[in-house]
Amino acid sequence: MENYKNKLIEEKALIESELGGVAIKHEETGVWEAKPVEETYTEADENDQADRTEDYEERSALVNTLGDRLNDVLASLADIESGKFGTCTVCGMKIEEDRLEANPAARTCKTCMNKVN
Ligand SMILES: [Zn+2]
Repeated sequence: MENYKNKLIEEKALIESELGGVAIKHEETGVWEAKPVEETYTEADENDQADRTEDYEERSALVNTLGDRLNDVLASLADIESGKFGTCTVCGMKIEEDRLEANPAARTCKTCMNKVN
């Protein structure tokens, strides 16, 4: 269990530092919002605006992925505290050891993972 906890704490720090580079945490809601993309163009023309919009969409998608991942990590850490760690959130069965080894933030067992995807 300590092993999983350490891995989760490590991953939490990693995700938060990645998010810190591309997003700002909303104080009240705790939701991460993508930062505006820096203007790296010296001259403004119409294509630049389109590029920036595209960059921002890419960044938003990354922030969403990292945010979801962070939520799983935080939920798993909370589960360790409350003694529920390793329980599938869909069917309530134990999550397989090898699945947790590969991903301590897994929220579902293998059966339910396959159903979801
Ligand atoms: Zn399950």
